[in-house]
Amino acid sequence: MDFKDTPEEAAFRNEVRAFIKENRPQNLAGGMGGFGQGQNPGWREWVKKLAERRWIAPAWPKEYGGAGLSVMEQFIFNEEMAEARAPRPGGIATGFAGPTLIVHGTEEQKKKYLPEILTGEVIWCQGYSEPGAGSDLASLQTRAVRDGDEYVVNGQKIWTSGGHVAKWMILLTRTDPDAPKHRGISYFIVDMKSPGITVRPLINMADSHEFNEVFFEDVRVPRENMIGEENRGWYLAQTTLSFERSNIGSAVGTKQTVLDLINYAKEHAGKTSTLGENPMVRVELADRMIEAQVALMMSYKIISLQAKEGVPAGHEASVAKLYGTELNQRIYRTAMKMLGLYGPLDARSPYAELRGRIKYMYLRSVANTIEGGTSEIQRNIIATRGLGLPRA
Ligand SMILES: Cc1cc2nc3c(=O)[nH]c(=O)nc-3n(C[C@H](O)[C@H](O)[C@H](O)COP(=O)(O)OP(=O)(O)OC[C@H]3O[C@@H](n4cnc5c(N)ncnc54)[C@H](O)[C@@H]3O)c2cc1C
Repeated sequence: MDFKDTPEEAAFRNEVRAFIKENRPQNLAGGMGGFGQGQNPGWREWVKKLAERRWIAPAWPKEYGGAGLSVMEQFIFNEEMAEARAPRPGGIATGFAGPTLIVHGTEEQKKKYLPEILTGEVIWCQGYSEPGAGSDLASLQTRAVRDGDEYVVNGQKIWTSGGHVAKWMILLTRTDPDAPKHRGISYFIVDMKSPGITVRPLINMADSHEFNEVFFEDVRVPRENMIGEENRGWYLAQTTLSFERSNIGSAVGTKQTVLDLINYAKEHAGKTSTLGENPMVRVELADRMIEAQVALMMSYKIISLQAKEGVPAGHEASVAKLYGTELNQRIYRTAMKMLGLYGPLDARSPYAELRGRIKYMYLRSVANTIEGGTSEIQRNIIATRGLGLPRA
């Protein structure tokens, strides 16, 4: 791996940097996640600028409204956006609903949904997990029964992130209960306003409403909303998941977070930072910086594999997911120690530091090793596909 930019890459980096400098509104808060960004005054302006530049979904091919960036250019783009703490719209819509439509959708489906996704203003959610189907997703029970030109859906989804604000859901249902479990599943796009859908909030332990339970009672979904063929949904879901796992930009944000903590610790030493009083804080911050650099190297490995061989990463993506998410938890544990008694204060307290973000992230990071595939599942993939160990 050559760490230096080629002249073309350096030129592209400058272009992204200049774009951010010129267009990022002052009143735009950093990327805290969550679903409240639409209310931020600068958000719409920023999203519009990104859309004009075709940078809502920069990785998509140009013919579908993306910028057709190469793997390296995507990485540079992600790196610059993370370094500038510039938030990005899209999530499920650009990250995997859109790519799945590009690969498996009909021309009509692409025309109907892709331009809307590219405005960056529409939220999609993912209806995969159920109370009895998470890691073992193929056990899902939500049923879709054909009735003329429609399917009638009954069942329940859970942990549906953004279900309360989403316009569309990508939904996995069972259409053939007699087939082997991977073979009887179909993939739909569902209008979240359809009669018979009930969304119930689940408040996470960080006291934030991000995910939901979604109930389906005789929900009628037009047949034209099915993506791909009936009973082939499992294979489409695999495409979607491989897009999700190859999300390679986050390591840059992780390093940026550690740098921000180090700067804060120095500036507030002896006041709201325990740096100087607690020798462990200094040592831990150094450890976190080294680990963040290791996470970044893992991302470099994945992108150079993708750039050279053109295939999405396999077990390497599991290594990066496992390491990166466990590191995120360690970072926020260190941050809590650094803040001492200020750590547990949230944004409601006038004494809260860093907008109460550390407490929120400390609690929220617990879910990192569950969402997108648990650490145990990643270890299984690494053991069997990476190390060639036999299945238990
Ligand atoms: C914050 C958050 C957001 C989410 N958003 C969404 C969403 O938008 N849409 C959606 O569909 N889902 C979403 N999920 C659900 C997520 O995909 C599941 O939680 C995850 O796949 C694990 O499934 P489960 O919760 O059913 O746990 P289970 O699969 O029941 O696992 C329970 C425990 O058993 C372990 N385990 C299970 N199988 C094995 C095995 N074979 N070997 C070793 N250990 C095993 C697991 O690692 C875990 O520790 C979200 C979850 C979280 C936490």
